[in-house]
Amino acid sequence: MIQIAIDGPSGAGKSTVAKALAQKLGIVYVDTGALYRTIGYAAVTRGISTKDAQALEALLPDIHIDVKYENGVQCVYLNGENLGDRIRRPEISMAASDVSAIPAVRAFLLDTQRDIARRNNVVMDGRDIGTVILPDADVKIFMVASAEARALRRTKELEEKGMSANYEDVLREMKERDAQDSGRAIAPAIPAPDAIHLDNSGMSVEESVDAVIKLIEPHLNKLHA
Ligand code: C5P
Repeated sequence: MIQIAIDGPSGAGKSTVAKALAQKLGIVYVDTGALYRTIGYAAVTRGISTKDAQALEALLPDIHIDVKYENGVQCVYLNGENLGDRIRRPEISMAASDVSAIPAVRAFLLDTQRDIARRNNVVMDGRDIGTVILPDADVKIFMVASAEARALRRTKELEEKGMSANYEDVLREMKERDAQDSGRAIAPAIPAPDAIHLDNSGMSVEESVDAVIKLIEPHLNKLHA
C-alpha cells in the first residue's frame, strides 16, 4: 500500500495535482479539506457561530459524514445528503478554517481520514496529513506557490464553477485563512520535518504533476505490495 501526503496553503494546486496523480496511478484521491468544509457548512446552515467551540462540540453528535467515491469523484454526504459544490462557496472556506482550529472537530475527523488510507492506496491532500494524519506516509510533499499565483488560480476555479469571484477579495481572504491555518495551536499547516518542498509558482499543471511523479517514482513498488 502507498500513502502520498500533499500539504500546503490554499490554492497551491494540491487538489489539481493530487487528482491527476490519483487518476494516473489508479489510486484514491482524498480531499480532506472537504470534511472541514462539511462541518463548516453544517454550522453555518444551523446558525451556529463557527468560532464557538462549545456549540460546535455539541453539534458533532448530530453530524454524520460519509465519504463515497462515485465515478472516481469524492462525494461528501452530510447526514445522507450529498453537498456537492455547496461546500466550495467562499464563505464556507473561512467557516472551514474556523472550525478546523477546534480540537474536538479535528478529533472527530481523524478516524475517517485514517480509515480510508488503511483500506486504499491514497494520495491525500490537506494541511496536517504529513504531520498528524499519516505521519508514516511514504512520500510527503509540501506544495507552495506565491500568494498572487494561488489567488489567480482560485479566482479562475471559482469562476469555472459559476461562482462570482474578485481577484482582490480572493487574495485577501486567502491570506487571512492561511495565516489562521498556519498560526493555530493544533495541527498547524506547517511542513513535516521530512516533507519535500515544491514551489510550483511558475509551473503549469502538467509540470507540477510531472515534478510530483518524479518524487514518487522511487516508491511506486509499494503500490502493489
Ligand atoms: O483544502 P481546503 O481549502 O478545502 O480546506 C479548507 C480548510 O479546512 C482549510 O483552510 C483548513 O483550515 C482546513 N483543513 C485543515 N486540515 C486539513 C484540510 C483542511 O485544517 N487536513
